[in-house]
Amino acid sequence: MDCIFCKIIAGEIPAVKVLDEELVLAFMDINPSSRGHMLVTPKKHAENIFEISESDLAAVIKAVKRCATAVKEALKAEGVTVLQLNGKASDQIVPHLHIHIIPRWENDGLPVSNWEMKPGDMEEIKGIARKVKEHIPPSS
Ligand code: AMP
Ligand code: ZN
Repeated sequence: MDCIFCKIIAGEIPAVKVLDEELVLAFMDINPSSRGHMLVTPKKHAENIFEISESDLAAVIKAVKRCATAVKEALKAEGVTVLQLNGKASDQIVPHLHIHIIPRWENDGLPVSNWEMKPGDMEEIKGIARKVKEHIPPSS
């Protein structure tokens, strides 16, 4: 499979690794949006949140907590944005699930979390919540 992150995991192309464990690899993003920007991936290929098993995702998010804690301490970050994209429409570029850990500082102005806070229509919000509840799959 022609997947760049699978190649990193297989050691075929280099990466600056931060955490290398049985199910999970964390490495530095080579186009960092802030100092310390890193990615956490499952070693088993899964394109996105819809494809990954709950157990692999659990391993990934546990590693995210540890890496986020580590980078926050290491760089004295004032906050950390945790971000994960699914599909081209959400701007996912690399089709191997990864969670971004982006250290943040007051007034760093990064355009990752500052969407306009405009009150929504509560009836519409409740209707959407009802529909979503009907579609929640059983835990596996
Ligand atoms: P996205 O798929 O939009 O969530 O983002 C993919 C991320 O992977 C981008 O932030 C890239 O900078 C990063 N990236 C792509 N190739 C590499 C690589 N070889 N090593 C480290 N990071 C990479
Ligand atoms: Zn892959």
